[in-house]
Amino acid sequence: MENFDHFIDGKIVKSTSGNRQDVFNPSLGAVSGSVALASISEVDAAVENAKNTWETWRHTSPLARARIMNKFLNILNERKRELAELISLQHGKTILDAEGEVVRGIESVEFACAAPHILKGEFTDNVSTAMDMYSMRKPLGVTAAITPFNFPVMVPLWMIALSTAAGNCVVWKPSERDPAAPQRIAEYMIEAGFPAGVLNIVNGDKVSVDRLTEHPDIQAVSFVGSTPIAKYVYDRSHQHNKRCQAMGGAKNHMVIMPDADIENTANALLGAAYGSAGERCMAISVGVCVGEGTADKLIAALKPKIAALKINHSLDEKADYGPLVTKQHLEKVIGYIDMAEKEGGDIIIDGRGFKMQDAKYADGYFLGPTLIDNVTANMVSYKEEIFGPTLQIMRVDNLEQAMALVTDHEYGNGCSIFTENGAAARQFSDNVEVGMVGVNVPIPVPMAFHTFGGWKNSAFNEHNQHGMEGIRFYTKVKTVTTRWKGGVGAEFSIPTLS
Ligand code: NAD
Repeated sequence: MENFDHFIDGKIVKSTSGNRQDVFNPSLGAVSGSVALASISEVDAAVENAKNTWETWRHTSPLARARIMNKFLNILNERKRELAELISLQHGKTILDAEGEVVRGIESVEFACAAPHILKGEFTDNVSTAMDMYSMRKPLGVTAAITPFNFPVMVPLWMIALSTAAGNCVVWKPSERDPAAPQRIAEYMIEAGFPAGVLNIVNGDKVSVDRLTEHPDIQAVSFVGSTPIAKYVYDRSHQHNKRCQAMGGAKNHMVIMPDADIENTANALLGAAYGSAGERCMAISVGVCVGEGTADKLIAALKPKIAALKINHSLDEKADYGPLVTKQHLEKVIGYIDMAEKEGGDIIIDGRGFKMQDAKYADGYFLGPTLIDNVTANMVSYKEEIFGPTLQIMRVDNLEQAMALVTDHEYGNGCSIFTENGAAARQFSDNVEVGMVGVNVPIPVPMAFHTFGGWKNSAFNEHNQHGMEGIRFYTKVKTVTTRWKGGVGAEFSIPTLS
């Protein structure tokens, strides 16, 4: 059994709240430890420590911060596997998938290493004679990071790397379902040379989130999770005069045009729909087949591939996907398959009866891959996010109908189109109401030097995550106008008045 507490001022701090929650190994379906749920005073202690640290961290040069970030980058690269194992054991995603997550997280740290360049301001000499003007990006203070279970390393690194590189300190509240990797990241940061208190972790639940979103010393809140909580965190942060970027849930469509290479499309869909047991905010959960016969051809190509998927405990390197995160979530996904069936969807492949051969994993939270045909826009199982290894197939006559479906959906995180027709691809990517679009790319997750964010009910924010949007979020601009007597022609006038 392993117990997780807080990480404040560079060390593990035992919780005194008296509240704890079980942590599970989803492959075994068994409790593997517990995590502390912080009290308000524990959150306050973490914020106070971060605020005190900020008084010196804010004056550290961007170059010095980047050098520490570089050491952190090296440690992450050396220990990818170690971190991946921690993720895999508590989340249930396969070890290789977890390693992929760590690599995507590392890309944010790489970008943050460019702090001296990306924090550079602007300068104009002689806005008037002998008068210069410059602007600079200043850190905000202490920022909060509140993160979901499904990317316990990648999503937090989007936030922590850029916020600290910009000169802020961070109080991070990870998901209570997979606290092991977060604690290890905090330890790596101390090893890299970050001063204690630049990153503090409080483990917790709604109590911690409520406190972080109202605390007067938290300047900005970065959140990723489900839509109802994202909206709640966004509204609450704004009520307390904080900046907030809150990313929510998704229902990502792939539009398959009649000219798409079906074999290639089916291969792409397989990973995009079932990889990580569908527990990805950019997973494709709906295939929209355009034109007569497209759906039938796609389903025929998918069936043998789905049948060949290997589902096993998460440390199996050959597994295509592992268990779902909790028993409760497994039951929720099964509930959606039941609902889709009742609503008139045709269950072509049914994952509900799936059983692990190896008795050791008989209690694990496994679900077989599920394929549902003839799904329509009025079904609740279509409108809502399922977040499991299920793929829903819809049939439409033309691109306009496909685009209308995607655009009318409440969520607008990601989507893709598979086609050989450039004009159709351009029409789709230019006009569809979704934040991240792929053309013959199933999961169009932007690189760390671009920016991540959905539209509609998939994100509540003024600035996206990472890239230059992240830098804008974590800094405020100050503009300075200077004038020095004694220069040539220093007659003290400003252009608009002369
Ligand atoms: P979640 O909303 O349950 O939890 C996210 C965070 O909010 C956690 O830290 C959790 O402790 C906290 N939280 C949960 N309930 C709360 C409450 N009532 N009040 C205050 N805080 C609360 O999400 P999850 O299940 O951990 O993650 C899966 C969800 O996240 C999915 O909906 C997925 O689409 C979404 N997600 C979105 C993105 C994106 O970038 N858009 C990325 C990853 C995951």
